[in-house]
Amino acid sequence: MENLADYKEIVDVIKESGGDAFKHCYQCGLCDTVCPWNRVRSFSMRKIIREATFGMTQVEGDDIWRCTSCGNCPRQCPRGVKIIESGVSLRRIATEYGAFPTSVKPIRTISASLTGEGNPLNEKRDDRAKWAEGLSVKPFSEEMEILYFPGCYLSYDPRLKKVAVATASILKKAGVNFGILGNKENCCGESIRKTGDEELFKRLAKENIKTFIDSGVKRVLVSSPHCYHTFKNEYPEFMVNFEVVHIAQYLAELIDAERLELNKEYAKKVTYHDPCYLGRHNNIYDEPREALKKIPGLELNEMPEARENSLCCGGGGGRIWMETPKGERFSDLRLEQATGVGAEVLVTSCPYCITHFEESRLMLDEGEGNPADNGNKIEIKDITEIIHEAIS
Ligand code: SF4
Repeated sequence: MENLADYKEIVDVIKESGGDAFKHCYQCGLCDTVCPWNRVRSFSMRKIIREATFGMTQVEGDDIWRCTSCGNCPRQCPRGVKIIESGVSLRRIATEYGAFPTSVKPIRTISASLTGEGNPLNEKRDDRAKWAEGLSVKPFSEEMEILYFPGCYLSYDPRLKKVAVATASILKKAGVNFGILGNKENCCGESIRKTGDEELFKRLAKENIKTFIDSGVKRVLVSSPHCYHTFKNEYPEFMVNFEVVHIAQYLAELIDAERLELNKEYAKKVTYHDPCYLGRHNNIYDEPREALKKIPGLELNEMPEARENSLCCGGGGGRIWMETPKGERFSDLRLEQATGVGAEVLVTSCPYCITHFEESRLMLDEGEGNPADNGNKIEIKDITEIIHEAIS
């Protein structure tokens, strides 16, 4: 199926979503110099844009699915090309034709699960609030201070359910009057949109918006930067505006308001990884660091690639659902960077980052170990887990 998408179709779709992307690109290649893929293999966004210009994109190949939408290249582009949006446009064409390479095939199962059960993990909708059993977490009602929206991974994934539990425990300790939506909560839809399935994104978003409005939600607390990004920057496309706060911000807010007392020592060396969708996409860099620095005994060391230069974990843009071969995982590189600054704990604030870092840690433990850490095992933690330890 060579050159499946015809010139006009690509032109129209990219114009619509990428704002005349290829017309502005002058092929300088700066995007390629910062793309994390070029740390592990050769890959060229510049080439993809050039091929799209001439209607030569091979939508059935792997390359249009590589972009993790980490947001590094648009910062460098001297022409303001909407590189991420252009890449997503090509995926929309591939999705329309059902032209998925083997590495992307799991997306079909993911879409079916999102459509049927509102989550990408093939779990039952009715089990969505099981993580909260025994914690006396209430269903959300209008008079409450805030809605806690844990999202799919924290609701179902065994590792990440611990983050949801830690979050609920912190909120209770701080006396926050909060509730959850339980089985009325749907996937936010951010990542499926990046895979090109615009229709499914719209359906999920509209269902969530209706639930928020029907339940009287005004302020939403999220654990995932992907939920944060789409609620804050994409849901307004549907003419709504909910106040969204990420847990890393909310923790800093609770500590500042003296609603949380960090009274336990956490005497470990930690380093903080900025998730792309919290940092580069939404400029939230200071609050998680402020919260961590207030923990007694904690030593925070920065990795050389921090804040806006943070190295992507590899999970954005729907890549969390795609297979990345050994030797090509950015998260392996990030673990080396973390151990390189002497960290005993790599802390972050995103379920995709945690998933990838835990996988990398497992591989390094099973293999020969990481030469940079002299055999010591690094721990992977969400910021809520560390704060929880510091208040318990
Ligand atoms: Fe084109 Fe911008 Fe990439 Fe340069 S940095 S090749 S102008 S997309």
